[in-house]
Amino acid sequence: MTPAVYERALSLTSGELPSYLYDLAALREHAAAVRAALPDRVELYYAAKANPEPEILSALTPYLDGIEVASGGELAHVAMAVPDLPLAFGGPGKTPEELTEALAAGVARFHVESARELRMLAHLAERTAVPGRRVGVLLRFNLPLAEESLRGSALSMGGRPTPFGIDPSEADELVRALSGGEYPHLELWGIHAHLASGLGATAQLAVAESVVTWAVGLAGRHDIVLREVNVGGGMAVDYDHPQARFDWPAYGAGLARLSAAHPGLRLRVEPGRALTAYCGWYATEVLDVKSSHGEEFAVVRGGTHHLRTPATKGHDQPCAVLPVSDWPHPWPRAAARLDRITVAGQLCTPKDVLARRVLVPDSGLRAGDRVVFALAGAYAWNISHHDFLMHPRPGFHFLDGARADGAEDAGGSVSG
Ligand SMILES: *Cc1c(COP(=O)(O)O)cnc(C)c1O
Repeated sequence: MTPAVYERALSLTSGELPSYLYDLAALREHAAAVRAALPDRVELYYAAKANPEPEILSALTPYLDGIEVASGGELAHVAMAVPDLPLAFGGPGKTPEELTEALAAGVARFHVESARELRMLAHLAERTAVPGRRVGVLLRFNLPLAEESLRGSALSMGGRPTPFGIDPSEADELVRALSGGEYPHLELWGIHAHLASGLGATAQLAVAESVVTWAVGLAGRHDIVLREVNVGGGMAVDYDHPQARFDWPAYGAGLARLSAAHPGLRLRVEPGRALTAYCGWYATEVLDVKSSHGEEFAVVRGGTHHLRTPATKGHDQPCAVLPVSDWPHPWPRAAARLDRITVAGQLCTPKDVLARRVLVPDSGLRAGDRVVFALAGAYAWNISHHDFLMHPRPGFHFLDGARADGAEDAGGSVSG
């Protein structure tokens, strides 16, 4: 963990725990490295659903070309938080109300998910038409994935039956309609694909190449020019090896070759998890230590209703124990006796486990010690079922060492 996070995790009082600690300086540094690894011509969009906290969006802004939003709620929120960034509106099941709002807000481009959605967008675009301006469309396709690219992928949205994107068998008909003037208020700008998540750089590059090759073939068949191809997000975050990072330099070098082979085409990536996972920590304290049928459990303040990531992904959230010597209470302090312990939360369900069989540090593990979970900056708080059991919400601290001027911290403000 970063020094700022370490210090804050120890200085918060028990009553201020659990808390999400975000290191914005670390986030900026990481985003700058990602941006620097990508060729200038490749655009970087951030998938807001990974973590839409306004402080996170603002810190990322200098390194982004735009943001992908996937609902009317995200659209309104992101447009308010970072009004100057171009938006791409994606996601299945867009409603007429959402599309109308997006058109009124002047959203730059729409990732269209079905033939029905295309027709609906065409109707609504006609109603809100600005003379001389057509609405930019990227058709999202569910393209087949080569087996080897899928290997190791935790989630796949494409290459098999899913509700995401358009079946490639419908491509020719849709492109014919768009290029033949059937939808005068829409303009086909390109192709979008987001096929899998959890891929390393080599597999991601293979996916990008196959998407671009397919898109170029489609354009060739219809004798049209496509301006852009969005090859999606899904860059791996390795929860078992928290120090590991997606190989952005290798991926960037591959995209540079791909981009050079198709000079008329603008490539775009839209990661979520791999941009923000590393900047967030969930800090809490051990309430109790108990032995059960030969194993030991540490019960912490909070749980998977705040940090649902390990429950949804079925992993152990990486964590560190920060020993606390002080024990202010008159009752005895529970302590671990075994060398492995399972860290569970306060919910009355066996699914509320944050990490299994964690190695107990040499210094031991006792009630009152702090436990800090890493990789909690993406798909963490915002995917969690906050209201289950009605425990208090965590604090939120946006640490910013680079700006040690009082604007340093949102002061444990509770959002939500
Ligand atoms: C969720 C999503 C992303 C981001 O995926 P990550 O795995 O967080 O990188 C990008 N594009 C689309 C369409 C998505 O649904």
